[in-house]
Amino acid sequence: MPEFPRVILRNNKADAVRRFHPWIFSGAIKTLEPNVHDGDFVEVYTEKGEYLASGIYNSGNIAVKILSFQPVDDLDQLFLERVQSAYFLRKQIGLATSNQTNCYRLINAEGDGLPGLIVDWYNGTAVMQAYSVGMHEQRDRLVNALKTVYGSQLQAVYDKSGTVLHKSKAQAENQYLLGKRTSGEVLEYGHRFVVDWEEGQKTGLFLDQRENRERLTHYVEDKKVLNTFCYSGGFSVYAIAAQARCVHSVDSSAKALEWTRQNVALNHLEAADHEIYAADVFDFLKTCDADYDVIVLDPPAFAKGLSARHQAVMAYKRLNAQAFAKVRSPGIVFTFSCSQVVPPDQFQGAVTAAAIESGRRIRVLDHLTQPADHPTSIYHPEGLYLKGLVLMVE
Ligand code: SAH
Repeated sequence: MPEFPRVILRNNKADAVRRFHPWIFSGAIKTLEPNVHDGDFVEVYTEKGEYLASGIYNSGNIAVKILSFQPVDDLDQLFLERVQSAYFLRKQIGLATSNQTNCYRLINAEGDGLPGLIVDWYNGTAVMQAYSVGMHEQRDRLVNALKTVYGSQLQAVYDKSGTVLHKSKAQAENQYLLGKRTSGEVLEYGHRFVVDWEEGQKTGLFLDQRENRERLTHYVEDKKVLNTFCYSGGFSVYAIAAQARCVHSVDSSAKALEWTRQNVALNHLEAADHEIYAADVFDFLKTCDADYDVIVLDPPAFAKGLSARHQAVMAYKRLNAQAFAKVRSPGIVFTFSCSQVVPPDQFQGAVTAAAIESGRRIRVLDHLTQPADHPTSIYHPEGLYLKGLVLMVE
């Protein structure tokens, strides 16, 4: 068995670990062995010397992110097992073998037993983002595990950790760890998208909205649809393909709008009545016509940390109130929040406050969330970040 440096917890702090919560806060630590450094793989013990868990140490508020609640003797094996089990799940839910969808999330951090790591699969290219120095140092193990699991299907691995680790001590650069840039064309429910993981936001496509984009298609036939914060046009492509009468796509990023245009054309939908607006959504909603049948509100995370939570909730309220003022009766609003620090009840509270302000009759038709390739550990409710409501507004 290899010797990993030890972290000893205070007496009353072991219970959270026994309940399989994957984070250890710095305040729970009694002693660190002197040889523990940022990024080290460590073992966590009680004061009495009982083994609790193994994980990656990082000085900071969350000091250890747990990868295993059983002693680990071979890290290569641990990574292989995690990737195998993640792949098995995606196969079981029909994603890894689908001929209509060839992009999905393979590793969703805590939800797949690899806290601090995201891996998205884009038709042969795996795009990884490590959110900690220690996880980034494990990248060769990840690449080896991906090679074993995917074999010749794996054409490239792009490490995009530089974008998220630029403020840390890590020497992370965005680069290919294997292979080189591929065409970037993927299929999602049969719709074609070109994904630019190098220039795009996150890993290139917001894969977490796949099922919700599909859900939208049930409401749009012959309707006038407004897709706000459209990014590369995901909801717009689905809406046009589902026979919307007219679609307006709004984003403040010129690049995003260029991708939207490309993706609409790639699906041979350019003949549709589709307008693209480069604008701030809050401004757009002030001046646009009030005749939309369906409005999609999918803003970026308004709050990155707890300190910004109140402001974020107020922004959700403002945005939803603006949409309620512009949707026809009866109309449909798909409203989302991807801020992890805003829990579902607070998000719904903000939407309710906006509804009250509008004075309209508003019913909840559906509660939306992140799909099965973005699983969360039941012991780590913080992992649920995407919340959405389908509302009927009269
Ligand atoms: N709905 C998209 C993902 C949205 S990501 C999808 O399904 O793929 C959020 C988008 O909001 C980004 O493209 C970003 O450029 C845009 N954005 C952020 N703030 C904005 C604002 N105030 N007005 C308009 N667009 C904004």
